Amino acid sequence: MSDSDQPTRQNDEHPYRHFETLAIHAGQPADAATGAVVTPIYQVSTYKQDGVGGLRGGYEYSRSANPTRSALEENLAALEGGRRGLAFASGLAAEDCLLRTVLSPGDHVVIPDDAYGGTFRLFAKVVERWGVQWSVADTSDVQAVRDAVRPETQLIWVETPSNPLLGITDIAALAGVARHAGVRLVVDNTFASPYLQQPLALGADVVVHSMTKYMGGHSDVVGGALVTSDAALGEELAYHQNAMGAVAGPFDAWLVMRGLKTLAVRMDRHSDNAGRIAEMLAAHPKVTRVYYPGLPEHPGHEVAAKQMKGFGGMVSFRVEGGEQAAVEVCNRARLFTLGESLGGVESLIEHPGRMTHASVAGSALEVPSDLVRISVGIEALDDLVADLRQALAG
Ligand SMILES: *Cc1c(COP(=O)(O)O)cnc(C)c1O
Repeated sequence: MSDSDQPTRQNDEHPYRHFETLAIHAGQPADAATGAVVTPIYQVSTYKQDGVGGLRGGYEYSRSANPTRSALEENLAALEGGRRGLAFASGLAAEDCLLRTVLSPGDHVVIPDDAYGGTFRLFAKVVERWGVQWSVADTSDVQAVRDAVRPETQLIWVETPSNPLLGITDIAALAGVARHAGVRLVVDNTFASPYLQQPLALGADVVVHSMTKYMGGHSDVVGGALVTSDAALGEELAYHQNAMGAVAGPFDAWLVMRGLKTLAVRMDRHSDNAGRIAEMLAAHPKVTRVYYPGLPEHPGHEVAAKQMKGFGGMVSFRVEGGEQAAVEVCNRARLFTLGESLGGVESLIEHPGRMTHASVAGSALEVPSDLVRISVGIEALDDLVADLRQALAG
């Protein structure tokens, strides 16, 4: 598909500016054929042409573009305040597309010392084999990132809040470092979601999402996204999305759009519940440390308060009694379901050292063995507190 054939729905000016309204309407006018209020699932691979090359609306083949995915992609661009949004089969597929679009052998990347385990694995086990070097820095320390940048550096990669230690990175400060060094700043915005934090407005070049988490929000879909405000980079990413092919399918795109419509109200409740639970944990005798950016004693609290609209639904904590005690808390929880992932309406609990972060054991990203991570859902706060109290009581 040539560029001029690309569907032209992106970059449309939206008459509405508020997040809650854009989440429901951006990219989703009533269906032209039927008036359907919800964008249909165009479960189709190919499109009838009106004479050779006579495409209707630019649609030719669903890897290149599909109307349901286009609607989501336009919505993503609007929600992050970017010029181009792209939807992928998973968060890691989005990351892979970005890395293979902008990096070449010999390039170098600065990555955080606290990151999603799969992101670290992608750099350490996959991208490195293609001659890309990486080094680890504490991205909450602006000087440490500045010192880590080399002449070959192309990207600074940031995750804030980070996974699983809820570290906070000052996005605007690192955007300054990146601009000065002539490198791109990438922010994995999965934990915050675009409702709580908009990295492009703070100077980031690209936003990455696992839509599997808060954006989908119901633990029923795997997906990823890239959003950029750089139109030329957006074109290059779209070219590679089609050339490499890990696109979001129409039903997955539809599920994420359905989730996004309630993102604002869900994130408000996730943040309220998590804030109250973090306070309860901080006062609990069996808990030795709580990681939540909403707590005033969190080292990133001020930066988080400046760049986020709320502190999100993720809380990690360490328990007295070491790894075994942490594992037992996870096993005893009942309303908090023991499982990986996060960001759904239902609360989850896990042991990062043995579960989500097993792949970083022995590396600079290793996590404390007595750490428990919870994804606080939107159930009644009292029920959640009661469950954690009984799990900690033993
Ligand atoms: C889950 C996650 C990813 C990877 O996304 P998938 O959809 O599982 O491929 C990347 N970053 C963060 C912060 C995540 O939580």
